[in-house]
Amino acid sequence: MKNPFSLRRRANLARPWRWLVPLLLVLLFLAVLFWLPWQARQMETTERQEQLIADTLWVEQTLRFELTRSEEALATLGTDLVRKPPPPAVLQARMAQMFKNGPELRRVLWLSPDGEVLARHGSDLPQDTPAPSLTDTQEMARLTRAGRYTEPYGAGAHSPALLDYYLPLYRGGAYAGSLVATYSLKVLLDETVPWWFAQDNALSLLDRNDAPVAARADGGPGRGVYTHRRALDLPGASIVLATDSVKNAPRLLPNLLVGSVIVLALGLLMSLMTLWRHISRTLAAEAALRQQMAFRTAMENSLMTGLRARDLEGRVTYVNKAFCEIVGLPPEELVGRKPPMPYWAPEVRGDYEQRFAGVLAGTVTPQFETVFQRSDGVRVPVLVFEAPLVDSRGKQTGWMSSILDITDRKKAEELNRQQQEKLETSARLATMGEISSMLAHELNQPLAAISSYTAGALNVLERADKGVPIEPTLLRRALEQARQQAQRAGQIIKSVHEFVKKSEPQRETVDIHSVVDGVRALIELQTRQSYVALQINLPAQLPPVLADRVMLEQVLLNLTRNGIEAMAGVAPERRILQITAAADAAQVSVSVIDHGHGIAPDVAERLFSPFFSTKAEGMGMGLSICRTAIEFHGGTLNHAPNPDGGTVFTFSLPRSTAAGAVELQ
Ligand code: ADP
Repeated sequence: MKNPFSLRRRANLARPWRWLVPLLLVLLFLAVLFWLPWQARQMETTERQEQLIADTLWVEQTLRFELTRSEEALATLGTDLVRKPPPPAVLQARMAQMFKNGPELRRVLWLSPDGEVLARHGSDLPQDTPAPSLTDTQEMARLTRAGRYTEPYGAGAHSPALLDYYLPLYRGGAYAGSLVATYSLKVLLDETVPWWFAQDNALSLLDRNDAPVAARADGGPGRGVYTHRRALDLPGASIVLATDSVKNAPRLLPNLLVGSVIVLALGLLMSLMTLWRHISRTLAAEAALRQQMAFRTAMENSLMTGLRARDLEGRVTYVNKAFCEIVGLPPEELVGRKPPMPYWAPEVRGDYEQRFAGVLAGTVTPQFETVFQRSDGVRVPVLVFEAPLVDSRGKQTGWMSSILDITDRKKAEELNRQQQEKLETSARLATMGEISSMLAHELNQPLAAISSYTAGALNVLERADKGVPIEPTLLRRALEQARQQAQRAGQIIKSVHEFVKKSEPQRETVDIHSVVDGVRALIELQTRQSYVALQINLPAQLPPVLADRVMLEQVLLNLTRNGIEAMAGVAPERRILQITAAADAAQVSVSVIDHGHGIAPDVAERLFSPFFSTKAEGMGMGLSICRTAIEFHGGTLNHAPNPDGGTVFTFSLPRSTAAGAVELQ
């Protein structure tokens, strides 16, 4: 398996570079996004400024043109006046014509060389005096012999600013008076500047002190953003035309383009942030998953239980470390394989195939023991638990098995069984030792009887040899007695032999009567020795049981011996040992009833424990073996106090069925 950690480390190392390039690109993109509108704004500003300059220039030229036209008209009039002054009416008409052509004209004066007013037109001025600077202007004009303007004057709260134009007149080189034209600067602005320009710009004419002397603001006051100043090139007067656009600085979001650029940038930033958050969450989830996976793998690898997953077709999809160790094969030789599997032991192949057919049919045995063959051929006993493998949507996708290596348990069980067998054998031998010593003692009796009966018979025959007639009855009785005693001795020996000989239980249909009869002689031997009266009360009809006869005899012998020993200390008339039996629909019960010392509660607790004995020479194995033997037959062994004093031990066994079989467990 590849190590996923090394890959991860490489990915971590590459991470800074992976992020740097897109980050730089995004920053660049954002910089361009924000630079573009700024640049557009700059361009618009420049364009508007240039437009304003051009327009201002045009207005200045228009003003200039208007004044020049008026200058020329005045010069023509002056020339005519010098040459031959027209009659006053004609002069007035010409002056009126000039006023018509130049609405900005407020007054025209014809002055004599002495400064006397020879003619005038337009007298609606608040003061009739010319401009304060007129004298200087006249001086300069006369010196230069050219028309000259005064500085603007007369601007007040209610009076508009005026401007005088002084034109000296010469006749034959001699000063011949002058013409003075007075203009209203306000009217000049109003009449000369077209409405569309005045709508977009606040216009003003400033004097040399930058004080406004005339203004026009049809579209409202200027904003001070786009401004331009241009001097009106008038000889003698310093008047500046100032324009101030009523338009604001271009806003940063003037159009759809900039708006959409901002929206796009915001959208990009948001989606980047969402993507970033999503990636961070994914990375966090990935890290948590990796951690979980590592934890799960560590857990699975540390398990002692083998784990194996199969799909619905029986193909192995997963095995853990413990499973690989049980079968001695690496995962690559197992995952993806379908039966027959390499760990199937040939001797139980039939079982595997049967179980696998169950898997394909969708049914499994939830728990079973079987044997796996390790790769080195060693057989491994295992306990297998099967369960359906269900995915997150509740659909079954296969089967999951947990496999326990039960080699040690099996070994322990085997050891236990062997020890139990040994114990049983030694217990049996011990019992046999006791019994055989009693047997030897009791056999003396029949043997002595046989000996005396045969001696008697021989005597009869000897007497016949001497001529005494034979008494056949006497002879027959003696031989009959001897035969009976020999048979009894044989029965005792046979019973003991049977009991000791067998170690493996041999089940057969057994009648309780015959069991009791089988050990009756031996029981009687003990009862007689201990002065105990034996009462056997069995119902005539008892159903048979399926059992090992010798084992049942052993149980009965042990129970009767215990009963006899328990009565050793009681009065001889109470020493009665009863054997009774009863049957119901299910089972047959046999009770051994004594009138002995009974069983104290602390003794009762440990009664069936091996080697528990209250007797000086007791082995403490009797009841333990009895219970094992009875439970082996599917029965029970219990004890209860005898209401008459003493104890009642009862064992029950299932009835043998008609076919001769017993339902065990
Ligand atoms: P052992 O007879 O060698 O002591 P058992 O397993 O047969 O071993 O009996 C264990 C103990 O149970 C006895 O020592 C005795 O104290 C008690 N016991 C068994 N049967 C009886 C009985 N019928 N009455 C009183 N006590 C009994």
